[in-house]
Formats: sequence, C-alpha cells, structure tokens
Amino acid sequence: MRIFKFGGASVKDAEGVRNVVNVLETVGYEGTLLVVSAMGKTTNALEVVVKNYFTDKDALPESIAQLKAYHNSIMVDLFGKEEHPVFYKIDGVFAELVSFLDRNKSPNNSFVYDQVVSFGELLSTTILSFYLQDKGIRNTWLDVRTLIKTDTRYRDAKVDWAVTEEQIVAGVNKEVLNITQGFLGSDPNNFTTTLGREGSDYTAAIFAYCLGAESVTIWKDVPGVLNADPRYFENTQLLHQISYQEAIELAFYGASVIHPKTLQPLQRKEIPLHVKSFLNPTAAGTSVSKGQDLEPMVPCFIVKKGQVLLSLSTLDFSFFVEDNISEIFKLLHEAKMKVDVIQNSAISFSVCVENKYDTLDSLLNKLKGRFKIDCYQDVSLYTVRHVNSEALQQIEEGKEVLLKQLLQDTVQIVSK
Ligand code: ADP
Ligand code: ASP
Ligand code: MG
Repeated sequence: MRIFKFGGASVKDAEGVRNVVNVLETVGYEGTLLVVSAMGKTTNALEVVVKNYFTDKDALPESIAQLKAYHNSIMVDLFGKEEHPVFYKIDGVFAELVSFLDRNKSPNNSFVYDQVVSFGELLSTTILSFYLQDKGIRNTWLDVRTLIKTDTRYRDAKVDWAVTEEQIVAGVNKEVLNITQGFLGSDPNNFTTTLGREGSDYTAAIFAYCLGAESVTIWKDVPGVLNADPRYFENTQLLHQISYQEAIELAFYGASVIHPKTLQPLQRKEIPLHVKSFLNPTAAGTSVSKGQDLEPMVPCFIVKKGQVLLSLSTLDFSFFVEDNISEIFKLLHEAKMKVDVIQNSAISFSVCVENKYDTLDSLLNKLKGRFKIDCYQDVSLYTVRHVNSEALQQIEEGKEVLLKQLLQDTVQIVSK
C-alpha cells in the first residue's frame, strides 16, 4: 500500500483539484490512501473564525461566509451547476459548523479551535472525493477521527498509538483508493483534536506506520526538498537523497517542507518518504530513506522568522546552574514554547523560542523579578547544516548578529 499526501497548496483552486486527478492517473492509484489538507489558506481563515467567535461576534458571520464563497467558487468551477449533490453535502458541513458555534458552551479556546479548524479538512476531502468519483475514480471517504485516537491536548494532541493502530488496521481496506483528512484525530470522548499546524505530513506517516505501507509520497509545489527555502534564497539545489537522521535534523531546525514529527514513525519501519512535484509527477524528487546522509553533500540553509530571543542574567551575579536553568525550562514548557537555541555562560542564559501560543507576556511576568531580561521580538533564526566558510559568510552578510553558535558543522545565527 502507498500513502499520498496532498497539501493545501495542491488543492488551493479548481485547477489544483483537477491536477490531483492527473497525478493519480499518471502514477496509478490502486491500493493507495490519500491524506489531504484543507484547501489553500483555509486553516488560517478558520483561525480567524475562532478569533471572531471569542472576541468579535459581529464579524463572525462574514468570516464564515467568505470561507463558504471560496469553497463554492471551486465547486462551481469543478461541478458546474449547483444541482450537483456535492453542493448539498457541503451546505450540510457548513451547517454543522454554525450549529457547533451556536450550541457551544465551552470557554476553552484550544478545544473550540480544534472543533472549528477541523472543518477545513472535512470540506476539502468531501469535495475531492466527489470530484474523483465524477471522473470515474472510485474512492472510499474515511473520517480520520474514527481512526486516529489521541489525548485531549487540543491543538497539539498526542497520538494513542496502540488504539490508533487497531482502528486503522480494522478500518482501512487496503485494496481500494481511500481518501481521508490530514491533521485531525479525536480524543477518548470522540471530540475532534488536531495534531499541530502543518500536521498532515504526520498523518500520512501515522497511516504508513500502522499499515506497514511500502512508501509515503508528499506532493508539493516544489521539485522536492531543496537545500534552502526558495522563498528566501536564490540558487537552491534539489537534494536527491537524505537519510532519516539527516532529514530529522533538517526538520527539527525548521525546514518547513517536512513536518518534524513525520520522520520517526517512518524510520522505525524503514518506510521511504518521497517528496515530489505535483506539477511533474514522474520526476524523481527527493527520497528520504536508509542510505547516504545527503546527496549532493551541500550546505543546507534553514530560516525561521518571527522568533523571540530571551537573554537572561541573574540579578545578583550568581551563576546559572541546574536549579535556575531547570526552573526556566519548566516555565518554557508551561508556556508551550519550543526552544530552538540555548546558549549560556556563567551569569547569562539565552534562548531563542517561538511564541506560537501567545504566551510570551505571561512568561515574562513570571521571569521578571528573578532575572534581568533582554527580550528581542521578531528576530530570525538561521541554521546552516554542513556549513563551509562560503556559506557562513553568505549567512552573516549584512546582518546584525545577536547570537551565534557553532556546533560541529552546524551554525546557528539569531539576527534582527
Ligand atoms: P503544503 O501544501 O504541502 O502544506 P507547504 O506550503 O507547507 O506545502 O510547503 C511547500 C513550501 O515549502 C514550498 O513552496 C517552499 O516555499 C517551502 N519550503 C521551505 N523550505 C523548503 C525546502 N528546504 N525545500 C523545498 N521547499 C521548501
Ligand atoms: N491544514 C493544516 C494546516 O494548514 C494542516 C496541514 O496543512 O498540514 O496547518
Ligand atoms: Mg502545509
């Protein structure tokens, strides 16, 4: 069995949906499971719906109407007249969203977030499933929430692997073409959960692991994994082969082309991951598999924008030792902040973190009084793996460097 993941960019408009058919017809689709993300920027738009629900009720209907118009225009393009049953079905999905918001009593932002944001994937997979059917590609639509079971950590749910494996093995027919949602799961009470932004890659890996799939293919708007993000760097090079270890490192440092959690389940069963262009489905792309570390062996550049650099020093010139360092880490953990770089000296301690859940202010309040704090917001973190002198020069050029760290052949720079 093969797992294909189609991300938001691949189904952002009617042309994208048509192209999915083209990809499937080109590479075959028997015994395949499609994991599909929300269309285009739908997840961001649903985040606005959640925000409006809590803070600006007047703007709520319009934010939902816009999403409906967006999906509607794609459907009109794909199915023509509004008599097609897909319109009725999608109306029902939107009615469910509105009904949830009407009925909900929970003040828990993360809980509501998951119940609402999950509609993106329910919409996209419904539309794609109908379209494939119309094109003569029979498929089975699966509700991933009956298959992937998680805890109740909404917005960042942890998979219950034992139950999930049981459900997937019992619930997926390996002989047919299956289509399901990325990014979603459900908790023990069957409330919807999400696996973290960009989590659809991870969903593909979960299915691959549980089904012992022969491979996972992630279809992208780029030729494969490049040695740098083409949005920020010129003259990028395609990486043909990457070992699991190397890919885990790249994803960990923030190479956003693969979600970091995706690789561990695949590595455990040595299932190869292919990253390929949906515009050129027969091209080889990138393989992540057992074997050579990196082919070609070139410096890899990763940039993470919008980070926060916190530099702490003790008020009384006492040393940074285990007890205050562990206290800081405890607070960072409570603030759900991912730490990207750490640097410490005797009396100072710097961390570069991501303020993903808007918890910076409350963290600063807790640190205030205990430490002298310098906080730099909206800084960029650059990481270069397999750095050489030329690459180092390139990355430092014209930047105000706030922190620099060299570890074996990886350099990290935080700059304004
Ligand atoms: P998806 O539709 O699957 O969610 P994304 O937009 O998340 O796709 O990822 C594809 C984008 O990732 C590319 O368009 C590219 O701009 C960006 N990207 C970042 N780093 C890399 C890299 N190292 N190689 C290729 N693409 C990268
Ligand atoms: N739709 C979700 C997101 O945009 C999940 C994904 O695309 O992987 O974060
Ligand atoms: Mg994505």
